[in-house]
Amino acid sequence: HHIVEVRNLRHVYPDGTVALRDVSFRITHGESVAIIGANGAGKSTLLLHLNGFLTPTAGEIRIGDYPLTKATLPEIRRTVGMVFQDPDDQLFMPTVYDDVAFGPLNLGLSGTDVEQRVKDALEKVGAGHLQEKPPYNLSGGEKKRVAIATVLSMSPDILVMDEPTDGLDPHARRQLMALLREFSHTRIFTSHDLDMVLELCSRVIILHEGEVRGDGPPLEIFRND
Ligand code: ADP
Ligand code: ADP
Repeated sequence: HHIVEVRNLRHVYPDGTVALRDVSFRITHGESVAIIGANGAGKSTLLLHLNGFLTPTAGEIRIGDYPLTKATLPEIRRTVGMVFQDPDDQLFMPTVYDDVAFGPLNLGLSGTDVEQRVKDALEKVGAGHLQEKPPYNLSGGEKKRVAIATVLSMSPDILVMDEPTDGLDPHARRQLMALLREFSHTRIFTSHDLDMVLELCSRVIILHEGEVRGDGPPLEIFRND
C-alpha cells in the first residue's frame, strides 16, 4: 500500500516557469527516499506540493487514503511534517518552547501532553537547553534543529525535509543523521549531501528539468557505467 502517490504532476509558476513537467512516483510506508538533482531541477517545488503549500497546475497527489484537496488539507498537514530549507520560514514565536508547542496545541492536545511532546522533540534534536530562548538569536545549526523539533512534536507519519544538512557543522550534521536514522516512518528529502543519501536512503529519485530521470536504490543509481 502506498503512503504517497504523485501522478503526472505539473507545476507552472505565475511567471510562466515550468518547474515540474510530468512527475510520477509512488512511495511505500517506511521508505527513505532522497530527491536529488541540480539547482533548478524542481526539487523544492515538488516537496512544497506534498503538504499542499503549492497547488498542482495539473496532476494529482494522494497521501495515505486521501487525495490532496482543500478539504483534506488539515488531515494531510497532520500526516506530513515539512521541514523547510530555511528555518526562518518555520520559527515565528517569541520562544523556542512556543514554536515547538504550536503544532501540538493546534492538534488540541491537553497541557501535559503538549509539554511532553515539546520536551521529547527538543531532547531528540539536542536542543532542550534552548527552550526559553528566542529563536531569532540562535545559530544556524540550532535554528535548524529547532525547526525539525517543531515538526517532530506533531508526530508525523511522513517526514519531508528540504536540504536537512544544509548549513550544519559536522557535529550537528552527525547528530541529525543519527536522529533521522531513528525516525522509522517514511522519510523524503532533497539533498546535495551524497554521504547522507548513501547512509540513509533506500531509494533515490533523480529530477532533471522538472522530470524524473532515474528512480532506484542508491547503488544502482550511482553505479558508474
Ligand atoms: P535550492 O536550489 O537550493 O533549492 P531555491 O529553491 O531557493 O534553492 O532556489 C532554486 C532556484 O529557484 C534558484 O535558481 C532561485 O533563483 C530560483 N527562484 C527562487 N524563487 C524564485 C522566484 N520567486 N522567481 C524566480 N526564481 C526563483
Ligand atoms: P530546486 O529545488 O531543484 O533547485 P526549484 O523547485 O527551486 O528547484 O525550482 C525549479 C524551477 O522553478 C527553477 O527554474 C526556478 O528558478 C523556478 N522557480 C522556483 N520558485 C519560483 C517562483 N516562486 N517563481 C517562479 N519560478 C520559480
